[in-house]
Amino acid sequence: MAQYDITYRCGHTDTVQIYGTNTHGERERKAASYGYRDCPACQAAKAGQANKDAGLATLEGSPKQVAWAESIRGKFMPMLDQERQGCADHGANAEQLAKIDTVLAWLRGQKSAAWWIDHRLSSHTALRAAGQAVNKQEA
Ligand SMILES: [Zn+2]
Repeated sequence: MAQYDITYRCGHTDTVQIYGTNTHGERERKAASYGYRDCPACQAAKAGQANKDAGLATLEGSPKQVAWAESIRGKFMPMLDQERQGCADHGANAEQLAKIDTVLAWLRGQKSAAWWIDHRLSSHTALRAAGQAVNKQEA
């Protein structure tokens, strides 16, 4: 194990521990690889901006929760939008699509960072929970 001072693509620096063998300069290569990505804070800020641009609600929670939740929904929402498109392409009728849209709108409006973290394991889990919440509202 060794400590390396690394510089992310965004220009922020950090000290990281790099494990493993170094017989062929593996650790230096690993250290250099940080230069190809943004630091966690900048990644979260970027995900947050992209989510805002996509019309998602502003999240509430601690900065750490919000950063985590941004990356979760930043991954899930495009997947779910794509699935909705898939349903449309495969002949879902207007009523079915309207139902999906209601659930997706509920997810877009989900402000709680903790909710996203609770449902982080799969987009389907999030979708199912959103569907149940929507049904409860309508009942
Ligand atoms: Zn940064």
